[in-house]
Amino acid sequence: MAVYHADAIVIRSQEYGESDRILTMLSRENGKIQAIAKGVRKPKSSQRGGTQLFTYADFLLYRGRSLDTVSQASPKESFPHLWNDLERTMAATGIAELVDIALINGQPQPELFTLTLTGFFLLAHYEPLLVQCACTLRLLAILGYSPVLDKCAECGAGVKGERLYFSSQAGGTLCRSCAEGFSGRWLTAGSIAFIKRLVSADLNKLDRLRWTAWMQQEIIDTLQNYCEYKFERQLRSWNIRKDLGM
Ligand SMILES: [Zn+2]
Repeated sequence: MAVYHADAIVIRSQEYGESDRILTMLSRENGKIQAIAKGVRKPKSSQRGGTQLFTYADFLLYRGRSLDTVSQASPKESFPHLWNDLERTMAATGIAELVDIALINGQPQPELFTLTLTGFFLLAHYEPLLVQCACTLRLLAILGYSPVLDKCAECGAGVKGERLYFSSQAGGTLCRSCAEGFSGRWLTAGSIAFIKRLVSADLNKLDRLRWTAWMQQEIIDTLQNYCEYKFERQLRSWNIRKDLGM
């Protein structure tokens, strides 16, 4: 059986059978990988720590026909701050779920690996929702899906006004005449300007950005709708966050 190493972050962990887990991992070299970790839910399992959600570890895996198997997991970072605060947990879950739906298995994405790792570290210091939105926009840019925000996504005309029409279907903002042909929503110009600042912001200086509760709501809802449209999947953890009134 072929054995290989993976420098990877656990982005999803599902219980399986009596005591196993199926892990979805984002690895530096091989992109998204799915593997079974056998017996890790037993209290005495030595691999328990290395296979927890959000853990960054060096994995030794056996290649399988449909699913690889975790043979060893040596944790490098377990991000305890992601577990001691619900907002941070939800933001990390939101980032991890987005990475999961945006990627197919086995497609190397070293930039996304670095972004995810950075995002988890940043959640120790900055406002969780701000980190989640910044990472979302960075992920879209890496994959070539950045929304158009400085002109009409359809005809290229300039867009201005106190409120601007944004359509996920069209891929960004629209001028008034093009807006009639697409589903979308009106956003305050302040929210659009803030999204633009987030796109180019230095991730290590996010504390310099200020946004209102109103902008937070508009921006997270818009990004969710846009990502769900682009990747044709629901972001379930993003809905849970909303249901919790966060
Ligand atoms: Zn137009």
